[in-house]
Amino acid sequence: MAKIRINKDKCKGCYLCVTNCPNALIKISPDLNVKGVKAVYFSGGKPARLHGKQGQAGGCTGCTMCALICPECIIEVCKEGQGSRGSAERSEASPKGKGQG
Ligand code: SF4
Ligand code: SF4
Repeated sequence: MAKIRINKDKCKGCYLCVTNCPNALIKISPDLNVKGVKAVYFSGGKPARLHGKQGQAGGCTGCTMCALICPECIIEVCKEGQGSRGSAERSEASPKGKGQG
């Protein structure tokens, strides 16, 4: 399962990530950050109560929607077994040849 990291102190409270996470895993904190806004936090990959039907896996899928939509580029998506990816970065797969054999 994937997870995300959010630089809360840079969050401006637009909540685009909250409304665009397909699994509703990003929540609004009751506390203010250094900018004086209620920043968001990752709810830990717990399943959200949505429609209670099939289709929603619950945990973070690593879809990167939150990172892509964040105007501040402060969300990193960490996929299991891979590095983190932010919205401003695009890492291409390293060309690994199979070799000859
Ligand atoms: S999209 Fe970015 S700036 Fe907006 S609430 Fe989410 S983390 Fe904060
Ligand atoms: S990567 Fe996708 S599933 Fe995970 S928190 Fe972001 S928007 Fe939600």
